[in-house]
Amino acid sequence: MSGQLPEAGMELTILGSGSAFSEVGHNAGYLVDRRLLLDCGAPATSLLPAVGSSVGELEAIVISHLHGDHVLHLPTLLVARRLRHPEAPPLRILGPCGLRDHLKRVGETAFGEGLWQRIVTEEGPLCTEVEEWTGGQSDEVAGYRLRAFTVEHSPELACLAFRLERQGVNLGYTGDTTYCPGLLQLASSVDNLLCECTSFTGPAPVHLWRGEIEQLRRDAPEASLILTHLTERQPLEGALLAADGLTFTLRAGGQG
Ligand SMILES: [Zn+2]
Repeated sequence: MSGQLPEAGMELTILGSGSAFSEVGHNAGYLVDRRLLLDCGAPATSLLPAVGSSVGELEAIVISHLHGDHVLHLPTLLVARRLRHPEAPPLRILGPCGLRDHLKRVGETAFGEGLWQRIVTEEGPLCTEVEEWTGGQSDEVAGYRLRAFTVEHSPELACLAFRLERQGVNLGYTGDTTYCPGLLQLASSVDNLLCECTSFTGPAPVHLWRGEIEQLRRDAPEASLILTHLTERQPLEGALLAADGLTFTLRAGGQG
């Protein structure tokens, strides 16, 4: 089980800082205070022990959208939690519309219908019912005030960004997005923003690139930026770069 939440600050550990087909990092996965996982594209089952945690410690998993680089490891993580940490309590899992069917389809494809059903249902609840959120929705999740924002990324998928807050410390996570009203609303409401930056060299279709990050710094100057979803690594003035295995300590007003 998880330890106590830190008295002050929030720990953000990067499991995967790479974009979908990146050669500079795993796919998306971000651990908050060892208990809440933002996206599950990275092979978290093996990466969590490398940062001193485990799938058994998680209390909630929050998914931004259903592209594979953000969600494909989730079935494996759930089976691993069931088999390796059978004592762990039910997880809270939430994400955009379609997550429930997606998880069932991918889980059954990956592990077979019989095993998946047995793992997920027949041996007791592995998770609470998968919650499908929409922009504007908020709730207390694993000790955080969590709020979802609608962002524009894929015309085929519902895509969410999130804001977490606990004891005055907040973090925004863009998921994948274009430069859209939801991104600006989120960025204007946080001190710390984990922000996708898929390209440094030119506009990236349905994603953000360096030029838009520079615009975001002007439009939301209070937000300290940590850039992720990287295809390449280049310095960008006024922003930090995520890297796999790195932990940031976040405080009110920006990173510590
Ligand atoms: Zn995407």
